[in-house]
Amino acid sequence: MTQLNSKIPSGPLADKWRTYKATQNLVNPANKRKIDIIVVGSGLAGAAAAASLGELGFKVKCFTYHDSPRRAHSIAAQGGINAAKNYRNDGDSVYRLFMDTIKGGDYRSREANVYRLAEVSNGIIDQCVAQGVPFAREYGGLLDNRSFGGALVSRTFYARGQTGQQLLLGAYGALSKEIEKGSVTMYTRRDMLDLVVIDGRARGIIVRNNVTGEIERHSGHAVILATGGYGNVFFLSTMAMHSNGSAAWSAYKRGAFFGNPCFTQIHPTCIPVHGDYQSKLTLMSESLRNDGRIWVPKKKEDAEKIRKGEMKPGDIPEEDRDYYLERRYPAYGNLSPRDISSRAAKERCDAGYGVGSTGLAVYLDFADAIQRLGKGVIEARYGNLFQMYEKIVDQNPYETPMMIYPAVHYTMGGLWVDYELQTTIPGLFVGGEANFSDHGANRLGASALMQGLSDGYFVLPYTVQNYLADQFKVPRFSTDLPEFLAAEKEVRDNINRLLGIKGKKSVDTFHRELGRIMWENVGMGRNKEGLEKALKLIPELREEFWKDVRIPGTNDELNPELQKATRLADYLELGELMALDALNREESCGGHFREEYQTPDGEALRNDKDFAYVAAWEYKGTENKAELHKEPLNYEFVELKQRNYK
Ligand SMILES: Cc1cc2nc3c(=O)[nH]c(=O)nc-3n(C[C@H](O)[C@H](O)[C@H](O)COP(=O)(O)OP(=O)(O)OC[C@H]3O[C@@H](n4cnc5c(N)ncnc54)[C@H](O)[C@@H]3O)c2cc1C
Repeated sequence: MTQLNSKIPSGPLADKWRTYKATQNLVNPANKRKIDIIVVGSGLAGAAAAASLGELGFKVKCFTYHDSPRRAHSIAAQGGINAAKNYRNDGDSVYRLFMDTIKGGDYRSREANVYRLAEVSNGIIDQCVAQGVPFAREYGGLLDNRSFGGALVSRTFYARGQTGQQLLLGAYGALSKEIEKGSVTMYTRRDMLDLVVIDGRARGIIVRNNVTGEIERHSGHAVILATGGYGNVFFLSTMAMHSNGSAAWSAYKRGAFFGNPCFTQIHPTCIPVHGDYQSKLTLMSESLRNDGRIWVPKKKEDAEKIRKGEMKPGDIPEEDRDYYLERRYPAYGNLSPRDISSRAAKERCDAGYGVGSTGLAVYLDFADAIQRLGKGVIEARYGNLFQMYEKIVDQNPYETPMMIYPAVHYTMGGLWVDYELQTTIPGLFVGGEANFSDHGANRLGASALMQGLSDGYFVLPYTVQNYLADQFKVPRFSTDLPEFLAAEKEVRDNINRLLGIKGKKSVDTFHRELGRIMWENVGMGRNKEGLEKALKLIPELREEFWKDVRIPGTNDELNPELQKATRLADYLELGELMALDALNREESCGGHFREEYQTPDGEALRNDKDFAYVAAWEYKGTENKAELHKEPLNYEFVELKQRNYK
């Protein structure tokens, strides 16, 4: 049986990463050329890893289903990226960023990983500035900062509301340099559909060329997955439409454990759902909470009138507004962490104070900030976000408060990795949102970009090399080996089976239904009854999908419905694992809110005695229950406490 070994280096917290780097195994430059590394994904984590490993001299093959690396979902990131530079001299430090992240994740992440993340955060900013990323600057020329949730300092670096795009252009520039040099070969419009394992080690992947339908076999001495998160299992989310969990799921089925699959982040500031046939939700960046104040009417009758269109927000006098975050969490106010802010919004709406035609919305109001700072300042900070809101909602947020509601945004769960970001399959590494990551049960704003780039630029180049130190003697693999042929056959059989169903319902019909089951039972509030219901409904839906899905066209062409169907087939299994994990975790922590476990004032009630562990699930066959392994979270340096943002 596979044993979990997190491989955390011994010694003081602040020395662990330094010691690791000083003592890791290296590969002689001449031997690096003999080693192939496959990187799947060219978002921030993948592009950074591929470029860095190429620069080191390895031969890298990088895959993406997009037509260009620049189109990865990372481009959508709006608000910013954290780093402990302390440019504001407001008391920040590596230790404070570490502590904020541990506490923000509700004490369900690994101390050593989180400390390393905080430690390398400053290097990320230097790296990106050197690449020419146009971070916002203050009048004097220094880099500007703003605040994000869960912190009392300003440590978020940003480029207007386009931080992800600018960071990705930087990483893409670095990647392009390596492509030009020949150290990285880029394979676009390829969907990874399986992992090839030979003698227990990851040695290759099977991909479908999405333009021609050709199934290809690719080999490497190591494989890195940087394939992003799986929030689209909920159908409606803020994630890019094509974000998916399939690469990670194929690795899971080949023996990589899946860590904390139920840890999902619900972001408090999204444009509310407005109809049954909507296929996408839009985020309004958390950065808006720097200057926007969140409120609902104090009186139910006012909320009722607003819902009926008989009153406008401007008609409600100041004394009749409930700035509920400022009221409940005076220390952090509108910058309370995402899980807490989301639940507080839901609580107000469930109690009948919600606004908008559905009652599932709260206000995010900039009137005070505009009065204090002037419209020009607000426009300079958030102009593109305001424009986006106006285009979608057809209301001018400079004049009337925005309406927002929580929505699925990010998955803290993912493939289980050790300190080296290596999975339970030797030679398979995972970076960025695809791993179970450093964010515990709740990710703080602006920390995903930090983690993706930390993994890609600063961690994987070391740890993958450590693994490869004795691999240069292993000759390049032939893709005609039986393991490659068998994996390819499985992929082909799966595609043929899907195309052969010729049922009546579209892929989206099934996906919408899965999303409904997930949102209602495995969403913001979870309980035993709902989770058991989901565990019954998801396999039923899966069975129906395999009998009645309709996929037009063939495999030998560009076939978006087929692409969607392969991804949904995986979601129909992953959703079940998420429900199982949520049912197993009989406590509330971070974004995982089990309604049975809450404090008298409605806060998440952790159970450190029984659940201070990472749940790592092992695949045992689709129709069998996955096996749970536990990685205990041993807190050596931090005292576990009830989170308090009051
Ligand atoms: C609207 C929005 C705003 C955000 N704003 C912020 C922010 O301000 N700050 C912050 O820190 N975080 C933010 N986040 C989160 C952050 O953007 C993501 O967590 C992060 O960019 C993920 O990066 P990644 O490299 O791990 O994956 P991605 O950027 O998702 O890239 C995944 C890559 O994998 C490829 N891929 C996936 N599956 C396959 C497959 N099967 N075969 C081949 N290729 C595959 C894709 O083509 C892509 O290249 C935001 C998220 C959203 C949705």
